[in-house]
Amino acid sequence: MNPLTILMHERDNVAIVANAGGLPPGATLPSGLVLRDQVPQGHKVALTDLEANAPVLRYGIPIGYAIKPIAAGSWVHERLLKMPDARELDNLPISTLKPEPQAPLEGYTFEGFRNADGSVGTRNILAITQTVQCVAGVTDFAVQRIKAELLPRFPNVDDVVALEHGYGCGVAIDAPGAEIPIRTLRNISLNPNFGGEVMVVSLGCEKLQPERLLPPGSFAIVDERNVADVGASADTPLDVVCLQDDAHVGFMSMVESIMRQAEQHLERLNARLRETVPASELVVGVQCGGSDAFSGVTANPAVGFCTDLLVRAGASVMFSETTEVRDGIDQLTSRATTPEVAQAMIREMAWYDAYLQRGKVDRSANTTPGNKAGGLSNIVEKAMGSIVKSGSSPISGVLAPGEKLKQKGLIYAATPASDFICGTLQLAAGMNLHVFTTGRGTPYGLAECPVIKVATRTDLALRWHDLMDINAGRIADGDATIEDIGWEMFHLMLEVASGRKKTWAEHWKLHNALVLFNPAPVT
Ligand code: CA
Repeated sequence: MNPLTILMHERDNVAIVANAGGLPPGATLPSGLVLRDQVPQGHKVALTDLEANAPVLRYGIPIGYAIKPIAAGSWVHERLLKMPDARELDNLPISTLKPEPQAPLEGYTFEGFRNADGSVGTRNILAITQTVQCVAGVTDFAVQRIKAELLPRFPNVDDVVALEHGYGCGVAIDAPGAEIPIRTLRNISLNPNFGGEVMVVSLGCEKLQPERLLPPGSFAIVDERNVADVGASADTPLDVVCLQDDAHVGFMSMVESIMRQAEQHLERLNARLRETVPASELVVGVQCGGSDAFSGVTANPAVGFCTDLLVRAGASVMFSETTEVRDGIDQLTSRATTPEVAQAMIREMAWYDAYLQRGKVDRSANTTPGNKAGGLSNIVEKAMGSIVKSGSSPISGVLAPGEKLKQKGLIYAATPASDFICGTLQLAAGMNLHVFTTGRGTPYGLAECPVIKVATRTDLALRWHDLMDINAGRIADGDATIEDIGWEMFHLMLEVASGRKKTWAEHWKLHNALVLFNPAPVT
């Protein structure tokens, strides 16, 4: 076995052991350094003698300080490191980096469903919005029947999905922060994959009344080019099935109401056809979960390379996960296209700092036992590996949680790092394609949008051969470059967006729940 280590930056005084199974004591690195300890795969080995309090450098920055002397060749694990304090949010570099504009990437297209408002869907799905959790069982029952009895008649429609969630009643609906779950639900209903066919199932007595969720005009898909062509206008009434309506006698009459309304939407959705659209119509959300030390070495840098390709093609790319980028805030504010964008980023980080403080924790609450077992000592190290998903393009916009995206380019969509909450908020922003990297392995998937999963290690890609769509572990094996995998991802995105390929999560119908971010009290 050839001992293999990965160095991320020339200044680093630790490197990552790449060999499957790790390296035993006595193993000799190509530099001549002999290991003193067993070092697991993905974990750090000290390249030089470190004194107590010496900075431990990875990605060229201190990810921690040695709490006692560490000899060269030792395993550097989280119990030997003191975590640096979070960077203050004042005196940050604001729009200081002016990267050379990269050449536009032209000629790439995919086959998508063009919506009246100009947005493009990658799937053609009937989504049934719910105002409150109380109606979830009835809606699910109706959806099963719609799929069995109606959907076969509408071959152009990919799926019928109930937008189930835990919100809607028993909540302080006017408290500060309550606008986040409400606008999230509203904007998910308007996701481009649903074709503007909004239908709502309501209970009747809930706090989140249909007209509060989707006020008149908010759900009309208005075509600025030709308003007359559009079915829904500002005067179109919201299509609501209210279960407590006096007209409903018995459970089956509720189910039949939902089915009757769904049929009208299915007819209109079924009339849509895919057409060739430029790659600039992609709205990609990038995320990582179940991260290990390879996330920041293989999969996330490949995503970053692909992010740059997408931005060059004129597409929208969102990166998120506030606690996982907080420690690199100075890298992000310096890449903001304008001071306003940098200030919006700082505003979102400050909001999140205060939110965590209310719970008497800080960003370090992010890391999981799996992260640590995978070699990530703390949130600083995890963040440096997470930020690389954003590539090197200028950051041109910021979204608060649950807001809808209205621009192209690289966007910081502020969300918690929780996989399901982040995915839910990226759906609300208008994501039509999702890329998800994982090192420890997660079977994550969404019913609303295709999810391309990228493994950070070959070992995982082989074990989970029917769950992982791309193996970025080949970068660590020396069999592919970051650029190779980035291009593979870009081409796969166009195939998946066109419906020519299904992701493994779609194939197996692995659908995680929508999980709303509700920072407001429940009652
Ligand atoms: Ca995540």
